[in-house]
Amino acid sequence: MSETTEGPKHSCGFFGIYSFSEKPVSIRIYNGLMAIQHRGQDSAGITTLSEGKLLTKKAPGLVSEVFSENDLESLTGSIGIGHVRYPTTGYSLEEDAQPFVVRYPKNGLALAHNGNIANMGPISKIIREKGRNPSSSCDAEYMLHWIAEELIKSKGDIWKAVESTMKALDGSYSVVMLTGEGELIAFRDPLGIKPMCMAADKDRVIFASESTALDINNMLITRDVQPGEVVIVSKKGIKSKVVVKPNKKALCMFEYVYFARPDSIIDRRSVYEARFRLGQILAQKAPAKADLVVPVPDTSRPAACGYSDQSGIPMAEGLIKNRYIGRTFIMPDQGKRDLAVKLKLNPLRTVLNGKRVVIIDDSIVRGTTLRPIVSLLKEAGATEVHVRITCPPIISPCFYGVNIPTYVELAAYKHTVEEIRKKSGADSLVYMDIEGLLRAIGMPKSALCLGCITDYYPTPVGNALAKKIRNSKACKTIRCWEMVD
Ligand code: SF4
Repeated sequence: MSETTEGPKHSCGFFGIYSFSEKPVSIRIYNGLMAIQHRGQDSAGITTLSEGKLLTKKAPGLVSEVFSENDLESLTGSIGIGHVRYPTTGYSLEEDAQPFVVRYPKNGLALAHNGNIANMGPISKIIREKGRNPSSSCDAEYMLHWIAEELIKSKGDIWKAVESTMKALDGSYSVVMLTGEGELIAFRDPLGIKPMCMAADKDRVIFASESTALDINNMLITRDVQPGEVVIVSKKGIKSKVVVKPNKKALCMFEYVYFARPDSIIDRRSVYEARFRLGQILAQKAPAKADLVVPVPDTSRPAACGYSDQSGIPMAEGLIKNRYIGRTFIMPDQGKRDLAVKLKLNPLRTVLNGKRVVIIDDSIVRGTTLRPIVSLLKEAGATEVHVRITCPPIISPCFYGVNIPTYVELAAYKHTVEEIRKKSGADSLVYMDIEGLLRAIGMPKSALCLGCITDYYPTPVGNALAKKIRNSKACKTIRCWEMVD
């Protein structure tokens, strides 16, 4: 369900900036990170390059908690990168905060990324065999060492170093990197699983996970970094090259359904419009005789607008979200989960009483919070509750940086739609189908990753890991990141 309840967690956000006019960039990085805070709330970090030195401040917490004014003043320099992290490989340790910095080759490198390296096992083994000892469990630090080693091998040729790194890695990665020599480098995996946009004018170049980080810096999106492309920004200007030619694209469909902010543009498509269309298509495919359309706040609001627009049923806010609740602990039994939902959502009795309600939500992962939401609505006087879900059933894990855990924890893997409906107490339950999802996003199947809704993954390691889990009974309870490691 939505982020209010039990939705999958975001998988990090990054920001990179180069100021041609040599203006300080730390405040721009800070603002950019604030604009993508939704992608990770566990830790935040900034690295800038000042007089040949890489300066870093990173710590657990929200962007506003991690950086003081003094920090931003001391992060001098006109080139920098930043990161907000949500841990997807199962750990949440202070040393896992990004950016990571290595002091070789030459004046060192700093790196931040969004994604997940699916073949972390062999990659980390090789790095350790080379005598490098990363201090964290984070794939980004291993990737950074790999690139540093490749740079040594290629005698400082960054194009070659990134190309050979891309050929060695399997998984998703959108990366910003800073060199001690004063270059800002951005690259995206050959399938383009994670988004990366850029903006450039005569004063500066910015790369970010989402265009909202450009908006806040008064920059308009110029284009997306292409799958397999490397962009290098230096005193000499901007150079770019596709170093690994993609044979297909596989952008994560969840960006449109759930992760990205609705005001973001990803691969030239408005996230808001995609969600609105999801709602419209759901209304065509799964009409309901109802008096009100109610979104589960906040992600589902555009889809609820679309459902209302298509069906002519008025939309109303029937569930009010407590915005200040922060984290709740993992609740071991259903009674406590019901309380967790109540802490986050309160029904509006005056709106719901005596009404037949269609609720719109983005996804069902474990399915544990659907029943408490339906109960809340019925206790508040709703006479019927019809559930419409904008994401097709999630039937398999994610190996690319989203914490969709393992087969047996997924409601749609274990149960039929009718079983889920019965357990939830809803009067009807309909999911979006894959054809409708593609239509809403406006992309063909061949351009998107649909791994968690088809059990077919866009990379060899993803498919191999899924097969290994499926073929072993004991493995089915193993979380995907445990397999990856
Ligand atoms: S498996 Fe699902 S969540 Fe993971 S990248 Fe693919 S579409 Fe996104």
